[in-house]
Amino acid sequence: MKSTVFLCLVQFICSLALAVSGHGPKVREGVLDLRQSDMENVSVDLAGEWRFSYDPLRPPDSAHRARTFLKMPGTWPVPTGYGTYSMDILLPEGQKSWALALPVIPSAYRLYANGELLSTMGQMGGSTAVIPQMRSTIVELLIPSDRLRLDLQVANFHFYAGGISTPLRMGYPETIRHINNRGIFMQALLIGALFFISIYHAFIFLSIRKDRGVLFFSIACFLMAVRGLFAGDALFFELFPQASFTFSLKLLYVIFPAALVSFMYYFRTILPAPVFSIFLQRTIEIGGVGYVMMVLLTPNTFHGRFLFLFALFFVWFVVYLLYRFFKTPLPAYENMLVVGGLLLLIVSVANDILNDIGVFHSWYLLPTGFFCFVLCQSLLLANRYSTALKEAGKLELEVAKNRFIANITHELKTPLTLVIGYAEQLKKGGGLSAYLLRPLNSIHHQSIKLLNLINQLLDLGRIEANAMPVQVFRTDVALLTESIVSSFEPHCNDKKLLLTVNCIDFSGNIAIDADKYERVVTNLLSNAVKFTDVGGEVSVVAKACPSFIELSVADTGIGIEANRRQHIFNRFYQVSDQSNGGSGIGLFLVKEILELLGGDIRVDSRPGKGTNFVVHFPIAEQPDAPLFDVTTFHVQHTDVLLPIVSPGHTEKRDATVLVVEDHEELRAFIAANLNPAYHVLQAADAEQGWAICQSELPDLVISDIMLPGVDGYELCRLIKQTSFCHHIAVMLLTAKSRSEHRIKGLSFEANDYLTKPFHVEELLLRIRNLLNHQLRLRDYYHRHLTTSSAMDDTTAPTDPFMASAYVKIEEELDNYRFSVEDLASHLAVSSRTLNRTMQKLTGFTTIDVIRKYRLKRSIGFLKSGHTVSETAYRVGFDSPSYFSKCFKEAFSCSPSTYSRAKH
Ligand code: ADP
Repeated sequence: MKSTVFLCLVQFICSLALAVSGHGPKVREGVLDLRQSDMENVSVDLAGEWRFSYDPLRPPDSAHRARTFLKMPGTWPVPTGYGTYSMDILLPEGQKSWALALPVIPSAYRLYANGELLSTMGQMGGSTAVIPQMRSTIVELLIPSDRLRLDLQVANFHFYAGGISTPLRMGYPETIRHINNRGIFMQALLIGALFFISIYHAFIFLSIRKDRGVLFFSIACFLMAVRGLFAGDALFFELFPQASFTFSLKLLYVIFPAALVSFMYYFRTILPAPVFSIFLQRTIEIGGVGYVMMVLLTPNTFHGRFLFLFALFFVWFVVYLLYRFFKTPLPAYENMLVVGGLLLLIVSVANDILNDIGVFHSWYLLPTGFFCFVLCQSLLLANRYSTALKEAGKLELEVAKNRFIANITHELKTPLTLVIGYAEQLKKGGGLSAYLLRPLNSIHHQSIKLLNLINQLLDLGRIEANAMPVQVFRTDVALLTESIVSSFEPHCNDKKLLLTVNCIDFSGNIAIDADKYERVVTNLLSNAVKFTDVGGEVSVVAKACPSFIELSVADTGIGIEANRRQHIFNRFYQVSDQSNGGSGIGLFLVKEILELLGGDIRVDSRPGKGTNFVVHFPIAEQPDAPLFDVTTFHVQHTDVLLPIVSPGHTEKRDATVLVVEDHEELRAFIAANLNPAYHVLQAADAEQGWAICQSELPDLVISDIMLPGVDGYELCRLIKQTSFCHHIAVMLLTAKSRSEHRIKGLSFEANDYLTKPFHVEELLLRIRNLLNHQLRLRDYYHRHLTTSSAMDDTTAPTDPFMASAYVKIEEELDNYRFSVEDLASHLAVSSRTLNRTMQKLTGFTTIDVIRKYRLKRSIGFLKSGHTVSETAYRVGFDSPSYFSKCFKEAFSCSPSTYSRAKH
């Protein structure tokens, strides 16, 4: 790529040198002497001093007498009008057949050779009635003598610069044709390339639609290609011979500001921030629009004179750009392309403008210059695209890697649950000899360490993939801090460390990312415990400040040497001579978390004396953030686990627990632990689980979240949305310990959430709590149906199934034929299911529930003065005596006695 740029530069410089130096014999005082010239394979520009008379068009002969000379190429002293150029050529001997290449001039003209009309372009005249025509042409002529007199009558009333800006060329016919063809070919090639680059970038933009710089670049290339069509042989007029001169010229002049504005927008997108000044941008925009308006509304003889102003804009813009690139450079390769391209553009445009106003006559530089500039920009964009593609590839890989880590982690956590669970069980069982207890303790301790590492790796993946969302909760931070610190107590006791915690200035709940706060405290605290020797001290001080929590974790441990302190926050860094295990991720995570939240951390340490980490943990400005209950918070990230409250005695109960877990061993492990206390059902996936739920109506479902096919969330949703299952308690079990997963589970009305690995005791305790809650509910319904108080709205059931059953029974209150089947079909369940659900919810069969409901309602009627038989019929008993019998059974008092007593 670099060599292409180099070649472009070489070509450009050669063209420039050619333009500046000029070559071949020159016309002097109206005479060109070719007698000594070898014209084989070369053409000669008829450039130099032509005789010129700036007056009405005369017959060709009279101009010959003019004694004034004018440079060709060049402009007239007075731009608009007409005049005649003349010259004599002294030809070499022998050659009779010649050709003249007539250039494009924005005027009408007539050419005479030795007094004979040779060629006409446009329509001649002495006023604005002149119709100019911009086409180049080749004329061949036979000259019998050794002298050729040329008279060129030019009429210019429509172009701001009169004169001939490109010289006529003469040579042998084949040479002229060859040179002409080559010129046209080169020009077409360059213009075609510009068009191609423009279309290519337009397609890139259309397919990606992200980078508007590509679009502006495409527009700018297109405009330059159109500009190229007007240069040299003006291919535009070859393509559109019928195009009106005025229209074409306006099109050409509109291109200048349009191209400048497009380039400005293009450079805005590639410049590093801060982009260039808004003043420059607005000036170019307003100047561009102003100039376009002028071009559209005024003739070229007017607006053409202001092209130089435009040139000034251009120079200002490019100089500013160069300054910007030197001040805040892009990467070296890109900078070379941009600056090289800009320099070429300066030269091209300066040349274009000078060529236009007749100072310089090197139109042929323009397409080459444009092309080289465009090529530089294309290379830059291509470079950016390839980098972006590589980045995208890397990102995809990163995403795949993180997904892989997440899955592997999940897979690792499940067996770890088993290892830790069995180890705890064995330890708790007691009676192990010291010989066995030591390796067992080690297994337990190492598995917990492994778990800690897995959690850190998971966090690392999330941080690197920017996938660690900030979750703000209102939390009792003092309680949270104390709870985290207390979880280290057993370990500190083992090491005989004095662990203290002090929370200052806290009042009420504070909105923070509790999950991340826990990670920060835990990481710092576990380091402090790890790096402090037996008998040392570790102290945690948390202080509530207005916008942050100042946390200090200090220890009297080994300390960190000054030259190592700066590295400890690096990923995987560990002070080399400390073999304390660990991974070197912890402090990196802490720093990243704090950066994410906008907090900071610093460390003071004296080797051999101790270390103090001071953290500023930001408080969020979200007073309406959800509440976070510290009591349900599990400390998962430490190698010391929460002390477990004993679940108490596990008496035999008739509760049924369904365990939905695809990991067979874990399922069996949970089942084995629940078995003595509960009736356990098992399912390997959610579908099987759901079928069991419907048929067996367990009291509790423990379900993993990640299940093959339908997941645990969906199972939970099904249970909670099906009225006759709604009462079933659901506990979700997962390796995902993030609070957002917890929230998701709870939003599906899960009753509890337990993160793997868990303690069996904790699981049992939670199950007991949930079942107790259910029992309380059942007791409530039970008591409600059996007490002799009237039924009112405040006692309406909260369970949706019970609520709709009550509504139906109420509707059918006086219908003594209303049966269990009727109620079941109304609730869209089988009688068996209805019966089982009622049993679970109230402890009664459906028949009992209906009867007890009727009896309970009768109290209201009796109270309001209805007779016993009236009441009996109103509450759906077809015989008052049977009603009395049932009433007495239920409330130990006959209805008549009751009604008398109440009156
Ligand atoms: P590791 O898993 O190794 O603890 P960290 O990132 O948490 O990784 O810590 C990086 C290193 O910083 C540790 O290996 C240790 O050398 C040093 N370090 C961290 N905290 C302390 C401390 N309280 N006292 C002494 N050294 C510490």
